[in-house]
Amino acid sequence: MSAEIINGKEIRKKILEEIKAEVAELKEKTGKVPGLVTILVGQNPASISYVSLKVKTAIECGFHEVQDDQPDDISEEALLALIEKYNNDSAIHGILVQLPLPKHIDEKKIITAINPDKDVDAFHPVNIGRLMIGGDEIHFLPCTPAGIREMIIRSGTETSGAEVVVVGRSNIVGKPIAMMMAQKGVGANSTVTIVHTRTKDLAAHCRRADILIVAAGVPNLVKPQWIKPGATVIDVGVNRVGKNDKTGKAILRGDVDFDAAKEIAGKITPVPGGVGPMTIAMLMKNTLLAAKRSLLSP
Ligand code: NAP
Repeated sequence: MSAEIINGKEIRKKILEEIKAEVAELKEKTGKVPGLVTILVGQNPASISYVSLKVKTAIECGFHEVQDDQPDDISEEALLALIEKYNNDSAIHGILVQLPLPKHIDEKKIITAINPDKDVDAFHPVNIGRLMIGGDEIHFLPCTPAGIREMIIRSGTETSGAEVVVVGRSNIVGKPIAMMMAQKGVGANSTVTIVHTRTKDLAAHCRRADILIVAAGVPNLVKPQWIKPGATVIDVGVNRVGKNDKTGKAILRGDVDFDAAKEIAGKITPVPGGVGPMTIAMLMKNTLLAAKRSLLSP
């Protein structure tokens, strides 16, 4: 039987509706709405398209959105000063600096300059540390892992006691999602294995997984015979494998051989239309959370 498709676009739509309702409630209570600044340095086409999507979604959610575009040659000092300005701006609850930054700017310095309470990407070492501690310590979940977890929960996948295998150990996806699934709590309590390029028998590990999360960036890495029948498969990979001759648009594929895998998995995310649409929704959720903490705390 063919797997249930976990539709990221539909889940995203529901989450944005929930956010809009909460923004209206917050406005009613405080007269204020969440504020998000998106800082874009330079003209990287992929970054421009990511930022414009973030801006559009923030506006759709009813946020106060500030788009702050800076030239490629902005100095590190000037960018740090800009961040300090937004750290001190009470109408801004979330600061997003679009990565990558030009080579002359130290990304680590920029990320650590953001007030951790406004770090809605959750890349600041303080927020990564809070994620490790878990429970009430967690301020923000990083957006892509948060989207993955939301898809697992909303698809009704049992996580408690489940064998979770995460392919990939990056700081933005593999490591944080592995840590989140191993925590105590709802949508977690799993037994987690992280695999990577030095893992001896990748296929054998994947075959054990009740929940297989793949974030390697290698098209069709995961073969159908690596999947445990009935498993939930979350494909994070976004790989450009060619161009559509008619539209000129890139053809995207995940890290899993989707057509074959869907005949074996119980639930599976497609690419595109799976994890991708969730990431920006979780950024909005973090910004709302930051605003609620700032505006509703006594
Ligand atoms: P990354 O930093 O390149 O990390 C890839 C990880 O996968 C590394 O840990 C690497 O192992 C492992 N890996 C690569 N090839 C492998 C192989 N053949 N066998 C086993 N492990 C392998 O990538 P990332 O930033 O985590 O992104 C991963 C993918 O997710 C990319 O396609 C990216 O575009 C996509 N992504 C999507 C979203 C979204 O919103 N949908 C967000 C972020 C990323 P080593 O550590 O041993 O090198």
